[in-house]
Amino acid sequence: MSTFDLFNPTDDHKALRELTHDLAKGVIEPQVKEFDEKETLNEALLRRMGSEYNLFGITIPAEAGGHGLDATASVIVHEELSYSDAAFTLSYLAHEVLFVNNLYHAAQQPLRDKYIPPVLDGTAIAGMAMSEPGAGTDVLGMTTTAEKKGDKYILNGVKQWITNGNVGRYFLVYARTEKGNRQALSSFLVESTWKGFSVGKKEIKMGIRQSPTCQLIFEDVEVPADNLIGAEHGALTHMMRNLEIERLTLAAMSIGIARRALDEMIRYASLDRSAFGKKLADFGQIQQLIAESYSRYRASRALVYETALRVNPNSRESLSAAAAKLSATQMAEYVARAAIQVFGGYGYTREYPVEKLLRDAILLSIGGGTNEAMQKNIMKDLRDTIS
Ligand SMILES: Cc1cc2nc3c(=O)[nH]c(=O)nc-3n(C[C@H](O)[C@H](O)[C@H](O)COP(=O)(O)OP(=O)(O)OC[C@H]3O[C@@H](n4cnc5c(N)ncnc54)[C@H](O)[C@@H]3O)c2cc1C
Repeated sequence: MSTFDLFNPTDDHKALRELTHDLAKGVIEPQVKEFDEKETLNEALLRRMGSEYNLFGITIPAEAGGHGLDATASVIVHEELSYSDAAFTLSYLAHEVLFVNNLYHAAQQPLRDKYIPPVLDGTAIAGMAMSEPGAGTDVLGMTTTAEKKGDKYILNGVKQWITNGNVGRYFLVYARTEKGNRQALSSFLVESTWKGFSVGKKEIKMGIRQSPTCQLIFEDVEVPADNLIGAEHGALTHMMRNLEIERLTLAAMSIGIARRALDEMIRYASLDRSAFGKKLADFGQIQQLIAESYSRYRASRALVYETALRVNPNSRESLSAAAAKLSATQMAEYVARAAIQVFGGYGYTREYPVEKLLRDAILLSIGGGTNEAMQKNIMKDLRDTIS
């Protein structure tokens, strides 16, 4: 199915789509089944995304070693990679969006100089630690603390659900720096080799299996004061800003999943499967499943690419990002479920790719803020427009 490039893509956008499309088909696709079944990250391939394919640093300036491109470019990469494997793409996103983009736009120059080069070339894998066992949606309720002692901060606490937790060398970690003040959060660059850092339980998940999700434990970890990112107590602004591009790229992943589900069901119903002497595509109810899926996909895709035009590091677009995520994630679940229905019993087996599409799609309604949180945020932003 055509990808319908939207909103006047530049030559860079077109080239990026072609590159990631070919990469997804030729390199990502062949490893999907093996790593889904092993429930292990293809770590070598994630590193090659930097060392061989130069696909890290999309949204950071060329003078810092990146591509100097916009949010649309990031959406293109996440959509194309997710067409083949959303699980691998989530680990890519944690490294590229939650760490690289976040660090570059929030950190002072010496931290950028030290930590950006090894993550761009894939020497080090990275992630971001915000959620906790007792604080997910209620992120301001986090209990991890960083107490200043001389030229160090002493970090204590437990982080939950951390993508790339067991393979990451660097983490951007959020912690409370003033007792009793919900807004007083700071972020730190923490290395996994430091004393007091350990990796806890690795989750066994329904989907997104190749991407490791782990608990991280911090016991009196001594973080040099120079590794405070931005201002003390000032992390909330860049945390919220980075959540916007995270939500947008998670929405892009939903678009990739839905496009794959559509391709699979259109081909299966039109060419592969017959019943009662006709192709499945001749039956009205099958036509309805496919047509409904297609129109929902096109609508969400338009919203996601329109939102990408607005998201940038210098302004806030929380309403658009939340709406794009809410729309695209619900759409992807609907479309992946419809694909299973079109495939009948075969769709429910692991022999065909559509069951994995649904397992993976469901995570996107939870990670980066649940759909209920998106509804809550949308309503708050809409109310603010009338005050
Ligand atoms: C595979 C995976 C990877 C992840 N990767 C990362 C990562 O790399 N880094 C990171 O920091 N986090 C990560 N997360 C965490 C993710 O962002 C959280 O799971 C998510 O924000 C929800 O938090 P929670 O799981 O604690 O659910 P809860 O906050 O406990 O929510 C449970 C339910 O209650 C609802 N709810 C909660 N509050 C409200 C409210 N006020 N109004 C209405 N409904 C409400 C929620 O919508 C949900 O339905 C990951 C999660 C998963 C599953």
